[in-house]
Amino acid sequence: MSDYKLSTKCLHSGYTPKNGEPRVLPIYQSTTYKYDSSVEMGKLFDLEAEGYFYTRLQNPTNDAVAAKIADLEGGVGAVLTSSGQAANFFAVFNICSAGDHVVSSTAIYGGTFNLFNVTLRKLGIDFTFVSPDCTEAELNAAFKENTKAVFGETLSNPSLNVLDIEKFAKAAHAHGVPLIVDNTFPTPVNCRPFAFGADIVTHSTTKYMDGHATSVGGVIVDSGNFDWTQNDKYEGLTTPDDSYHGVTYTERFGKGAYITKCVVQLMRDLGSIPSPQNAFLLNLGLETLPLRVKKHCENALAVARYLSESDKVTWVSYPGLETDSQYEIAKKYMPDGTSGVISFGVKGGREAATKFMDSLALAGICTHVADCRTCVLHPASTTHRQLSDEQLEEAGVKSDLVRLSVGIEDVEDIIADLEQALTAAAR
Ligand SMILES: *Cc1c(COP(=O)(O)O)cnc(C)c1O
Repeated sequence: MSDYKLSTKCLHSGYTPKNGEPRVLPIYQSTTYKYDSSVEMGKLFDLEAEGYFYTRLQNPTNDAVAAKIADLEGGVGAVLTSSGQAANFFAVFNICSAGDHVVSSTAIYGGTFNLFNVTLRKLGIDFTFVSPDCTEAELNAAFKENTKAVFGETLSNPSLNVLDIEKFAKAAHAHGVPLIVDNTFPTPVNCRPFAFGADIVTHSTTKYMDGHATSVGGVIVDSGNFDWTQNDKYEGLTTPDDSYHGVTYTERFGKGAYITKCVVQLMRDLGSIPSPQNAFLLNLGLETLPLRVKKHCENALAVARYLSESDKVTWVSYPGLETDSQYEIAKKYMPDGTSGVISFGVKGGREAATKFMDSLALAGICTHVADCRTCVLHPASTTHRQLSDEQLEEAGVKSDLVRLSVGIEDVEDIIADLEQALTAAAR
């Protein structure tokens, strides 16, 4: 499929029906697959023949959707996971174990920060966090002997920082390690990180890819570009895996070494796969992704302009605004738009922000972003409600901050709703 343009791939990659077969990717809601002889099945286990035997490892619906996303990102292979959290966990854990170290940008999703800073530390994996705006010297100084990977988010949730992918890739490669990038917010429609030197891409497909807020899911995509044999850091890939027939992934699977290990070792042992039903829904979302992302970005830019002109709003953060600190770097990495997510401050602080939210009629109050319906979240009164104003400031979450995920409704209706709620909050 690789010669087609992105919109065409969104519809056709991953599944090509043969004569008389279903036009739409079927849901293979089956845990297992039937064989006529135990000899045939034995060959599958010995890796002598290819075929399905158990859905935790392979399923035709899941695999077709993974192949589509691999094609959209320009990678050699992908694996779907049961959530975005699982995707980031496996992306790191596939090449890191106790005693290893990772360099990560500070501008990442709160759930990912917790996964790294608390849970992976408990497993013995150490992290150094660096500002996405750090100098090359500061970035290089974060590496240690045992560093195995660098991690960042193309467009961070919720702070909307744009990662300088080339800067991070250059430092990673100079130290012989891959760059893993979470590309959830821009999606491959607005940014393809492999083109700038990233080696592994992850997504929470829960967001724009699914797009309709039906299914939690994630994906890991392998560019196939990183040379795991250039040093002795990746023994899990370059020496025999006793738990899997003594296979040496780099020898047997070449460019597909990383993603194959992720499936046959990590999914086998840890099992965080999506249901085929969820993969089917994700696939429907992917079919219209380019249309929706374009509309989200158009609407968000109009809303950001409206908010920045309102006297009831103290500040607006949206990388598409010419006045935004991220505008220039966003133009480089996401020339067609960033995402539908905006953050802004309501005049009057925490109390006014709460009143504004409660006065909204069309936009819903949801712990979610990036689906087709407009929604808002006020971190100070929900996800961060136990923090004082001073602690919020330290966490980079102002008490008046409202995170607005602009949907694909008619933008006039969205703005009218914001206007009446801002007016109510100012009373
Ligand atoms: C939501 C999100 C995640 C976590 O994904 P889930 O599907 O909720 O597990 C990870 N990274 C980013 C950037 C996200 O927005």
